[in-house]
Amino acid sequence: MENILEIKNLKVDFATFRGTAHVLDIEDLCVREGEIYGIAGESGSGKSILALSILNLITPPGRIAQGQVIFSGRDLLKLHPREMNGIRGEEIAMIFQDPMASLNPVLTVGQQMVITIRQHRKISAKEAEKEAKRRFEDVKLPDPDTTFKKYPHELSGGMRQRVLIALALSCGAKLLIADEATRALDVTIQAGILDLLRELRKNNGTTILLITNSLGVAAQMCDRVGILYTGKILEEAPVRDIFKKPSHPYTKALIDAVPTANLKDQRLPNIGGFVPDPIDLPAGCTFGPRCPHVMEVCRRTKPERIGIGPDHFASCHLAKKSGDDNG
Ligand code: SF4
Repeated sequence: MENILEIKNLKVDFATFRGTAHVLDIEDLCVREGEIYGIAGESGSGKSILALSILNLITPPGRIAQGQVIFSGRDLLKLHPREMNGIRGEEIAMIFQDPMASLNPVLTVGQQMVITIRQHRKISAKEAEKEAKRRFEDVKLPDPDTTFKKYPHELSGGMRQRVLIALALSCGAKLLIADEATRALDVTIQAGILDLLRELRKNNGTTILLITNSLGVAAQMCDRVGILYTGKILEEAPVRDIFKKPSHPYTKALIDAVPTANLKDQRLPNIGGFVPDPIDLPAGCTFGPRCPHVMEVCRRTKPERIGIGPDHFASCHLAKKSGDDNG
């Protein structure tokens, strides 16, 4: 599979009264055409900033300090704002965690679909309405004719999220960024939305960048997963290897904190300490202050990316290189 998205040496900073917050530092991240790539991490790890950076939507006091975001061969950070507007929606679409906040409360969802479709395609309002209803069917919204006339507040949370997915796909986007898209939904509705995303990948070949704070969701959905912490990918691997052979202490701690079916008499371990202040990141390994295996070298030297196996790397001084005798 070819890479549809490549992120290289991307750094994002925010100017604050206390100093510069270094919120994102992605050395190398590739998403392949047709896959579901998961970005998993705690709140404050930089997941949403990553999504906004891909769409070049970082605004002051934030700034993209350096790097490249190459989508289908073009560096999005170098495009003219008009060209970038064309890419947003038409080629890359995003769905957010709060569908109510993403929809206009004074327009029906049908009107919003028609406006969006006509912004990107030169078709009549009648044709756009037909296309909108077809998309409502694609995302399994019941009775598209009735739904078309509803205002967002007249729909349930799950239906609103389906409308947002229909909006995102209405212009044929090749890459869908789902930023905690199921976080605000209850478990059964969440399962329906995740099924829908899987079907969209299967039926339309849509590539999905799934941003989540749940390793359980990543396990069900993704082909590969990147573990994000302090804006850095600490480990990346095919989803099976992340769970079977986690090589970074942070990944292991996140997996240990996933609730299992047998919760009887079980206390869930938590990760001690807090995500460090991005204005004052620790020298060396940023996970060092919370790591149970921290060594002197970790406090001084930033760990390099170590190749553990095919498509698998971890940034940790304890990680064993692929082929090492003791690995
Ligand atoms: Fe822990 Fe050191 Fe590995 Fe960081 S580099 S995760 S502190 S062992």
